[in-house]
Amino acid sequence: MRILVVEDEEGIARFVKQGLVEESYAVDVAYDGKKGLELAMSGEYDLLLLDWMLPGLSGIEICRQFRKEYSTPVIFLTAKDTVDETIFGLQTGANDYIKKPFHFDELLERVRVQLRPKETSTTIILSAGDIELDQKSHKVTKSGRDVELTLKEFALLEYLLVNKGNVCRRTRIIESVWDIHFEYNTGVIDVNINSLRNKLQLQNNELIKTVRGIGYIIND
Ligand code: CA
Repeated sequence: MRILVVEDEEGIARFVKQGLVEESYAVDVAYDGKKGLELAMSGEYDLLLLDWMLPGLSGIEICRQFRKEYSTPVIFLTAKDTVDETIFGLQTGANDYIKKPFHFDELLERVRVQLRPKETSTTIILSAGDIELDQKSHKVTKSGRDVELTLKEFALLEYLLVNKGNVCRRTRIIESVWDIHFEYNTGVIDVNINSLRNKLQLQNNELIKTVRGIGYIIND
């Protein structure tokens, strides 16, 4: 899952990014409205976190323009807290808002609510075969036994499971699991896939299959 944070206060931006990265999201940051809109309109994100007051272009304006093309969840970060302004924020197409100052746990909970698959809003367990991944507790089990994964291995497995039954292209995997500043080298995917297969004790092409020249697919 890839998140765009548009926030001109560097301290807040850094704090939010670090926290989300530790939760295995891929995170890009823009420090002004113009750059924020440009990145948002690339369509590469699963969620936007927008500050309200930004140099160049306000969060509201970014949200308005973004909503013309995308239904991706948008959460506002705002120091403004009067009811009218909140309603205004939601009327621009935002899905939720968080008042500054906030605890990271609150932000994380709201992010998770927005990113939960809509049709199974209470389900947070993803599975394939005898492998289960709990998005909330970040636990992975194989036949009920805990498997210890690195953050990137977890994010990679989560991405494959969210897209179960569909071929995941290498470029999409890189974009979703690593951030834009990551040096483009898809070899890192193979390294993490191999490590995942080892830790999950999968035989060659069991559950996680290689699609030659394209990417990977996970199936039951
Ligand atoms: Ca600001």
